[in-house]
Amino acid sequence: MSNRPLRTQLRPCRSLASFVSRSAGLHGAPNAATFVSWFGANFRELCRGTDRDLDKMADILGCEPTEMKKRVILGKRSTRHFCDMELPKSFVRQSGNRVCPLCILCDEKSGDGRMIVRPFARLTWAFEHHNVCPKHCKRLVILPSLPWELGDDFHLRLRAARNSPDFGWEGEYEEPLAIDRYIVARFRR
Ligand SMILES: [Zn+2]
Repeated sequence: MSNRPLRTQLRPCRSLASFVSRSAGLHGAPNAATFVSWFGANFRELCRGTDRDLDKMADILGCEPTEMKKRVILGKRSTRHFCDMELPKSFVRQSGNRVCPLCILCDEKSGDGRMIVRPFARLTWAFEHHNVCPKHCKRLVILPSLPWELGDDFHLRLRAARNSPDFGWEGEYEEPLAIDRYIVARFRR
């Protein structure tokens, strides 16, 4: 039996939902909601940036609560706040349901950890006006939806996409716009 540490790295451009979902998968939990419940926290509240749930999971995941909160899209009535930016609500998707299919395939080839949980969700995919990956010139595709109680569980969505014969892993070729390049460059700083 191997001993896998509970901690994996929370990198700057990754969403917290994807990071926690990945941690759940690395440790064989059936889904992120169950994994987080083992420690007395709630996955949907964690992804909303609720302090109680962030504090409960921070030590388990080896992160500072403030760093975790930067990777959450915080919703107010008409604005969305994350990564030190405040944007109109219509600019940001609350749910991490879009991906570049080739970024996912690259993660699977070169990422760390078990094959099935190597990919991660980029925060840039949450921008409503970012539609084409500048690295791969592929239009972002929408992952299958999940029952609401499972929350924004990225790896469960990927699993559902793999099981769907209609899911477009090839993606459509498209030239990125200046806004696509700007958003990705802004998050790499
Ligand atoms: Zn890509």
